[in-house]
Amino acid sequence: MNVPLNDLALHHEPFVIDFQRIFAASLLDSTFIGGQHVSAFEASFADCIGSKHCISCANGTDALFISLKALGVSPGDEVITTAHSWISTSEVVSLAGAKPVFCDIHPEYYTLDPSSLSSLITPQTVGIVPVHLYGQSCNMDEILSIASHHKLWILEDCAQSHLATFRNQTTSTIGDLGTFSFFPGKNLGALGDAGAIVTNSDSLAQFCRLFANHGGKNSHLIEGINSRLDSIQAGFLNVKLPYLSEWTSARQRIALLYTKLLSSIYHVTTPKIHPHSEHAFHQYTILCFRRDELQSYLYDHSIQTRVTYPLSLPFLPCYAKQNCHLPFPVASSFHSRHLSLPIFPEMTDNQVYYVTEMIFDFYQNI
Ligand SMILES: *Cc1c(COP(=O)(O)O)cnc(C)c1O
Repeated sequence: MNVPLNDLALHHEPFVIDFQRIFAASLLDSTFIGGQHVSAFEASFADCIGSKHCISCANGTDALFISLKALGVSPGDEVITTAHSWISTSEVVSLAGAKPVFCDIHPEYYTLDPSSLSSLITPQTVGIVPVHLYGQSCNMDEILSIASHHKLWILEDCAQSHLATFRNQTTSTIGDLGTFSFFPGKNLGALGDAGAIVTNSDSLAQFCRLFANHGGKNSHLIEGINSRLDSIQAGFLNVKLPYLSEWTSARQRIALLYTKLLSSIYHVTTPKIHPHSEHAFHQYTILCFRRDELQSYLYDHSIQTRVTYPLSLPFLPCYAKQNCHLPFPVASSFHSRHLSLPIFPEMTDNQVYYVTEMIFDFYQNI
């Protein structure tokens, strides 16, 4: 049996005819940027999330950058984010001229640990970027209360958390703004790069829309950037969006099965779900003993896994000169132990059985 990390060819198989129809129609009508597909997607996605505004853009990294600009981030500011994420989360803070300040992660949820947050706040701190990593919401109760006490904004990075909730509230609608990536491998993916920002604030939405399109076509009220969603990508996303909820349930079902089967292995820690959160399981990430050996054993048995991400942000070469006085004990203990197993909506129970069986075998033989 062969178990890929994700199977996008299989995922897209039911939509091939729809995609071809959209492509053919786009060639005829030649609206390649903006247009009907884009406005329809923005309306449906805002509706699906339960947010007042959705502003589409070119990718999830731009969505974060545009949001930071909308929040007025500028040189001298400090922005607190998690030590463990994809680099987009912190590189946009530097790109906006500010300093990313990293917060260690929670030992069980792997997301920004609110108990380490307060000590990082300085007079320069302007906001917090929680990342709902692997599809699970951060503990937003504590983050909200710290933010409101210190008058900080919250920008949620939801690139991995489509439809995940905290206390029944959809991630991205809890803070001031939320950003999404529709990179092909995300829980909702385009057939290329795509992203979006959601917010309930009229003024933030207005700024984002201007900034993402050169400060407004022909009006140029401000300077901005070119970060727009292609019409054809919006068309593809419109085809896929109605299935997002079904796909999320499939991911949750697979995760539950994994957890049931793996919980008896002493050397494996299965992902813990916070009592107030509904996990979207972008990744199913375990902590395990002799990780690299397990990974190559699985690879030899045709099972693809991934280390997401090999190093936490403060340990990357680009941050070598920054934050080095902080130890990040949890994030650093995580480096050699975490492993993301295959998970995708079309994954069969037999594939889950096979992966878990091979993990059993590995630990039996060491
Ligand atoms: C994927 C991802 C991004 C960036 O999205 P792109 O669309 O690839 O630019 C940002 N943050 C996190 C946590 C991600 O996983």
